[in-house]
Amino acid sequence: MENKRFRSGMSAGDDIDSRIVMPSFKEEDADVEFSLRPRYLADYIGQKEVKESLAISIGAAKKRGEPLDHVLFYGPPGLGKTTLATVIANEEGVNIRTTSGPAISHAGDLAAILTNLNAGDVLFIDEIHRLNPVVEEVLYPAMEDFAVDIIVGKGPSARSIRLDLPRFTLIGATTKAGMLSSPLRDRFGIVHRLLPYETGDLVRIITRSASLPRVGAIIEPEGALEIARRSRGTPRIANRLLMRVRDYADMKNDGVISADCAREALDKMGIDPLGLDSVDRNLLLCMIEKFGGGPVGLDTLAASTGEESSTIEDVCEPYLLQMGFIARTPRGRVVTPLGCKHLGRTLPGMEQGGAEQQSFSL
Ligand code: ADP
Repeated sequence: MENKRFRSGMSAGDDIDSRIVMPSFKEEDADVEFSLRPRYLADYIGQKEVKESLAISIGAAKKRGEPLDHVLFYGPPGLGKTTLATVIANEEGVNIRTTSGPAISHAGDLAAILTNLNAGDVLFIDEIHRLNPVVEEVLYPAMEDFAVDIIVGKGPSARSIRLDLPRFTLIGATTKAGMLSSPLRDRFGIVHRLLPYETGDLVRIITRSASLPRVGAIIEPEGALEIARRSRGTPRIANRLLMRVRDYADMKNDGVISADCAREALDKMGIDPLGLDSVDRNLLLCMIEKFGGGPVGLDTLAASTGEESSTIEDVCEPYLLQMGFIARTPRGRVVTPLGCKHLGRTLPGMEQGGAEQQSFSL
């Protein structure tokens, strides 16, 4: 395990789950995430507008003595949607029941969950866009009228009876808001989009996590900055990198995470100063070397790099687009001059100067 962690870089086709910069949840994160998760709005760092707006909604609901309206959070994985759902339940002082779209396969499963809720409880459904349509139908009256319709009996004698539910708050989270059906989307009174974090907010998240007993690391501000810059705007990745750098610091630097120590550890993991790993760099290189910078279609790119199209689309591309290293055109993806510069490459017709000095390769 250890040598896998600190090997320098990965090659195309490596097991996707072993990528440290994967923003989605991995089983091995569970224990750390649980202990590092902020519990109240005051500890939740960044997402200023969302926090301010939620504080008002929660305060107003409390004042009226009613549960909060149903809430939908959408945005890329690892940005704090689940965390916000638990924060809301804690702020309201109610229980939270957590499940996910793919985990509820039958309408009866959802009806059972709903009828077991207590007044005011929060029901959190992660990946809500993956609910099966039959199950989704059960949610409509539950969200709107706080009732479920249950079919009793079979065949011609079957009849539907309506059960009243306690008033509850549904919190849905999705990485793919576009895949949500409009009847479901329209039933959420509060909708918030989470955006990637600024480096300054990630520094605060890393510093907070380092100070918690689960991590207990000594971190210098420049060390936190070095990790934050390579965290792809994502708290989940920031915490994951922090845990790895902490191990490295324990072995090599008396447990102190300085800028040099963080830089060294992250370079050894193959994560460059802007958070790209070898899979991202191979993708850019392939576009430059094999396709003259593009445009190139997703399937062609997947076949040429040996990566799954979904990996390219869901993990590499969002960050490369955000960094301005690639662009999407109607004819396919193209590498931008900035992307070429990052790798120290030039394309025919591109300006030379300076590219070599600022380039990065591991
Ligand atoms: P999502 O549900 O969007 O995939 P999570 O809520 O599970 O993301 O967040 C992943 C981890 O990142 C959490 O366990 C938490 O430790 C950390 N985290 C997320 N958002 C914040 C934040 N705003 N402040 C501090 N830590 C955060």
